[in-house]
Amino acid sequence: MSSFQTSPGTRDILPPHAGRWRALIQVFADGVESAGYQNIIPPMFEDLGVFQRLGDATDVVTKEMYDFMDKGGRHIALRPEHTASVCRAFAQHRPTPPWKVWYSGPNFRYERPQAGRFRQFDQVGIEVLGVDDSQLDVEVISLGWDFYQAIGLSNVSLVINSLGDAGDRGRYVEALGAYFTTHSETLSEQALATLERNPLRVLDSKRPQDASAIAGAPAIGAFLSTDAAAHFAAVCAGLDALNIPYVVNERLVRGLDYYQRTTFEFISGSLDSAQNAVGGGGRYDGLVEDLGGPATPGIGFALGVDRTLLACDAEECFSYGIPALDVFVIDTTGGSHALSITHQLRHSGFSADRAFEGRSMKSQMKSADRSGAQVAVIIGDTEAEESTCTVRNLSTSEQTTISSTELQSHLETVLGPRQPRRHTP
Ligand code: AMP
Repeated sequence: MSSFQTSPGTRDILPPHAGRWRALIQVFADGVESAGYQNIIPPMFEDLGVFQRLGDATDVVTKEMYDFMDKGGRHIALRPEHTASVCRAFAQHRPTPPWKVWYSGPNFRYERPQAGRFRQFDQVGIEVLGVDDSQLDVEVISLGWDFYQAIGLSNVSLVINSLGDAGDRGRYVEALGAYFTTHSETLSEQALATLERNPLRVLDSKRPQDASAIAGAPAIGAFLSTDAAAHFAAVCAGLDALNIPYVVNERLVRGLDYYQRTTFEFISGSLDSAQNAVGGGGRYDGLVEDLGGPATPGIGFALGVDRTLLACDAEECFSYGIPALDVFVIDTTGGSHALSITHQLRHSGFSADRAFEGRSMKSQMKSADRSGAQVAVIIGDTEAEESTCTVRNLSTSEQTTISSTELQSHLETVLGPRQPRRHTP
């Protein structure tokens, strides 16, 4: 007999945790939709080329891509993030800018699994295409900040930096390359390999051996053009005006190569420092053009759902229980009363569940208690004969027998008025 387990780096999100997960996404959706962002659902896989635009110096592209040839001979990749897909969608459909969208869903990266680092992980995020205004940077950052506040996380800090315009970034990378090359004898083997590919990413090294070279490295601030410096100053001033606390860290470069100008990260002080980034984002003014669209400024962020919930666990916030039911229907007649009453109650807008397999009264009462329902509606032989039902308050054990025709109005008196379940756009 074979038995299967989840693949490394993947997990089953079981109930009730999956309900908490969905509630988290709902808080995010409510926040960003009230700021004018609309939901986008891009496909989970794309032509590999879409993601190669993230930069051939990033680990995400060179080492972590889940790519394969499909049966039609296309080179496909499971998305490692959403931003490239959103930019591809913009280039393909050409919506009128500004285009403000939000998303949620899984991404796939072949990473070394560890606490807070998975091969399939979820993100929620927003992207705005077509606006170059520094006030938008402030709006985007503030929506991320507000989300963490809304779910009750208090130990999250915001770190920001500017990577300058493409030209500034280029000159800075050159200067960093020259600097690290002169310090190459002190660098770790891994940092030397990174230096070959992208000197900027050496700043990301957490190895103690690289710390002193990194500490003495030139900082981006001195390389910013007047425009980029003014943009960054305006972003900082906007955050100040909104009373959002932040720290400027000129070493913040972020994992993906496409960022220009504003970059930021949300760090949880309650998680292990190796995996403490709960979200991050920035401007990527050249990405739409790289994907075949018109030159379009873009900015966004992605927040890690898995890690954000780990931070909630650590801070004991955003707790979630089993969703309470209104009614549990108990039928000991062996007939179909439970079937029709449950059906009717659900249609009238009550949440209702029942037991199956003609269990004993005792067993059905146990299920009713376990369900968290507020009341049980009981149909025994007497009730069936007299067309009545007994309504029992499951917390006080008080019960009363009423005519079946009064059930709905009685429950509305006890539990509050309900609307028939129907989609209202
Ligand atoms: P990135 O797309 O790399 O900028 O990541 C944005 C956020 O997604 C990070 O701050 C993490 O919270 C989360 N994240 C990225 N990679 C992983 C992963 N392998 N496992 C879990 N969360 C991740």
